[in-house]
Amino acid sequence: MNKINILSEDLANKIAAGEVVERVGNVVKELVENSIDAGAKTIEIKLEDSGTKSIKILDDGSGMNKIDAKNAFLRHATSKIKTDDDLFFISSLGFRGEAIPSIASVSKVTLITSTGEEGTKIVVNGGKFIEETKAPARKGTMIEVRDLFYNTPARLKYLKSDNSELANVTNYVEKLSLAKENISFTLINNDKVIIKTSGSNNLLKTIHELYGIEVSKNMMEVKGENNDYSIYGYVGSPSVLRSSRNYLTTIVNDRVVKNYDLNKIINDAYFTYKPDNKFPIVVLKIETDPTLIDVNIHPTKQDIKFSKINELEDLIFENIRNTLYKENLIPKVEVKTKDTYKKKEIKKEYPEIINNTEVNEVQEEFNFTEDKNNEVKQLELYPIGLVFGTYIVAQNEEGMYLIDHHAAHERINYEKILNNLNNNEKNIIDMLVPLTIELSPSDYLIFNEKKDILIDMGFNLEEFGINTIVIKSHPIWLLEGYEDETIRGIIDIVISLPKEFDYVKFNHSIAAEAACKKSVKGNTSITISEMENIIKDLFKCDNPYNCPHGRPTIITFTLYELEKMFKRTGSS
Ligand code: ZN
Ligand code: ZN
Repeated sequence: MNKINILSEDLANKIAAGEVVERVGNVVKELVENSIDAGAKTIEIKLEDSGTKSIKILDDGSGMNKIDAKNAFLRHATSKIKTDDDLFFISSLGFRGEAIPSIASVSKVTLITSTGEEGTKIVVNGGKFIEETKAPARKGTMIEVRDLFYNTPARLKYLKSDNSELANVTNYVEKLSLAKENISFTLINNDKVIIKTSGSNNLLKTIHELYGIEVSKNMMEVKGENNDYSIYGYVGSPSVLRSSRNYLTTIVNDRVVKNYDLNKIINDAYFTYKPDNKFPIVVLKIETDPTLIDVNIHPTKQDIKFSKINELEDLIFENIRNTLYKENLIPKVEVKTKDTYKKKEIKKEYPEIINNTEVNEVQEEFNFTEDKNNEVKQLELYPIGLVFGTYIVAQNEEGMYLIDHHAAHERINYEKILNNLNNNEKNIIDMLVPLTIELSPSDYLIFNEKKDILIDMGFNLEEFGINTIVIKSHPIWLLEGYEDETIRGIIDIVISLPKEFDYVKFNHSIAAEAACKKSVKGNTSITISEMENIIKDLFKCDNPYNCPHGRPTIITFTLYELEKMFKRTGSS
């Protein structure tokens, strides 16, 4: 049976309007998605010179018979779309079939395909059929696109540098491997393997194959559902942050999407667990009824619109937040042995060779992390002293801990102050000496419009001459000794507030500001019993692992790692 339908002219024009093939990445995407549609379980992408010379896709999918193979080169042939309505309810990967004729019109294409019986080979150059012959009956499809844009010099010059084309393709294959962990993908450029996944149908294993062991062993599972959405995936611990958002992967109904709201809510869930300029590694799969999403049908866009976005955001936020809350997030200092280095170098050049050994490594790490202490909040630590006037050294049976006592104190005060703010605690205290603050004329104007915010918080303030205010009382959570600088800091925050602001973040900045001023500064000495109190209070916090700015409060050298460093692991 021939699976490809010929589209009506009207519908075809609608599609053609949105179609864009301008980069190597577009070609790879269209061809790879054809392979996926053909049910392939193994897809190999071989590039020469980042695809500018040759793009070859090999799959073990269903293949095409002779008639389908020829039809594939005819304009507006597609096996996906039959009617106008289909255009608006495409819940799979988008539409296909339109791409091959377009690609073939601007390159030299060789197609070898077979359904397992007789094979077909077709060669098309610049849109003209050159050859049609019999080919071996290996089930699947091989399509090679050579010399992209060779006959359209104007478009050829828009191909980016080799590096940028390759980065674009790599990024695409990487994300697709995460969306389709049941398919084995291999990406090779000039005989060098860049990506190889095993198609194990195990998301964590795929993450491991792409990002390596440092990342995979620091990933935590999330899972949840509400009436409309279900989510599943892995979120990275704050010890493996990245400086770009590129490691946030969101997949909706098997389709990789880029959505501002999703990225934002994921990032927000790490609030105070990380600095603002760092981003977590997250792979999140969202399943929903296709009628709840609006897939933008423009083939180059990956964006999507959700109905009930708030319900989805709550689900994601709560799940990530709970996962971070439950896990022991104390970063472990680990020794890099020679073996680790060797393995990394090998991996760079021949990832396929060590694939199998690494699988075992993941398994080991699983077992190791399974019995980790989830009761970390009752962790007993015994302080020993202070180094550099800054770090508390503490120990227990499991290892040695270093606690940044400014960061720890800051976290403790932050959560206390935040509680007061959130409960709208209005206990007020008079200042011994009223504080006079002089502002620039422009700041004064802005301040005047926003002073109710401070009055609401419990500050008593009056105008006092030109561009000057005087503060006579303040809420009780500003502790003695640091009132002046804290109040100045708070006024700065109020002045720089946008017209519309979010009280959650506002309260956070106020609490962080006040906590930082109020907390013990580095380079002071404290007694052992003060250290004990800091440790006790720290582990009562919701997030004991980070200061409100996202810096770590505590790190550990496990006994095991110490013994490894001192080569005590043997018997001698
Ligand atoms: Zn600070
Ligand atoms: Zn801090």
